[in-house]
Amino acid sequence: PIILGIESSCDDTSAAIIHGRKILSNIVATQKVHENYGGVVPELASRAHQQNIVPVVHQAIYKANISKKQIDAIAFTKGPGLVGSLLVGTSFAKSLSMSLDVPLIEVNHMQGHIFAHFIEDANRSPITFPFLCLTVSGGHTQIVQVNNYFDMIILGETLDDAAGEAFDKIGKLLGLNYPAGPLLDKISQEGNENKYSFPLPKLNGIKFSFSGIKTSVLYFLQKEIKKNSNFINENLNDLCASVQKTIIKALIKKLKEAIHLTGIKNIAIAGGVSANSKLRTEVLKLKESDHCKIFIPKLEYTTDNAAMIAIVGSIKFEHQKFTDLSASANARYKI
Ligand code: ATP
Ligand code: FE
Repeated sequence: PIILGIESSCDDTSAAIIHGRKILSNIVATQKVHENYGGVVPELASRAHQQNIVPVVHQAIYKANISKKQIDAIAFTKGPGLVGSLLVGTSFAKSLSMSLDVPLIEVNHMQGHIFAHFIEDANRSPITFPFLCLTVSGGHTQIVQVNNYFDMIILGETLDDAAGEAFDKIGKLLGLNYPAGPLLDKISQEGNENKYSFPLPKLNGIKFSFSGIKTSVLYFLQKEIKKNSNFINENLNDLCASVQKTIIKALIKKLKEAIHLTGIKNIAIAGGVSANSKLRTEVLKLKESDHCKIFIPKLEYTTDNAAMIAIVGSIKFEHQKFTDLSASANARYKI
């Protein structure tokens, strides 16, 4: 089938066309309005979605070189996310499904991040069940055991901040614009990651916590700035690299525990933070150290995109999992 996927859960408006498991187009309009606020402003996000959605969908159809009439179903993000943002995509998907008279498929955004691994790609071997997925994004940090398409268990989650949120909030302390994650990654390349050390959380079981690292960076900066008001500027590279090392260390530690707990050796990473260069390097090391098979998503499928919504749509279509027009957005939709 040919499916249109629509994603509008946070601050990216995106539309994609998939044919079977092959992506024909994936258009993402990233909202710039939030840059100077240090985070996403929900009211501004829904307004921007409203402006972007029609041109983004048109462009996806145009770029895929298909006509609207060829669309067999419409997949949309039901949640989780910001309710005002979700409502734009949900309403648009419902209206279009009525006017084209094609079925509607609701998609969980976090399942989308994981399912990006099922997108057909000639350059990598397909992922096989069961696998563990470390999903690290702006709002979530989870280790999910994926037994089959619609059989997955969350083995553990974060107790407070998500990994991406930790990158963004600590980046903000260091004076970086939102989203700070990609910038912090880039600046870290020039830094010494062993210059400063921040404590890792001590947690039993598959659990994450990042608010302690954030607080310890805050107190450390306050102390150093008292001695030298230019401390951050003079040491930005080393500070970024040291923070990045700490966050990634915390993630890998729990991923290893999950591997030992379950005995599962197929390991995937997903979500915006899976774009991080240090995380990619460290996860690949599990090949040697733990005899794992590692699956890393293509960069364009890490941060929010509609290709990942379209692939869930395509697989749900195969299993005839449709939804009716009474579907509504759910900000706290669970996988
Ligand atoms: P969720 O998926 O939990 O609803 P989200 O959709 O807002 O949250 P994503 O778009 O998946 O999150 O990811 C965005 C996050 O990824 C941001 O916090 C951003 O800073 C982080 N991120 C993106 N690239 C990198 C990178 N190279 N290094 C570290 N973090 C990164
Ligand atoms: Fe996301």
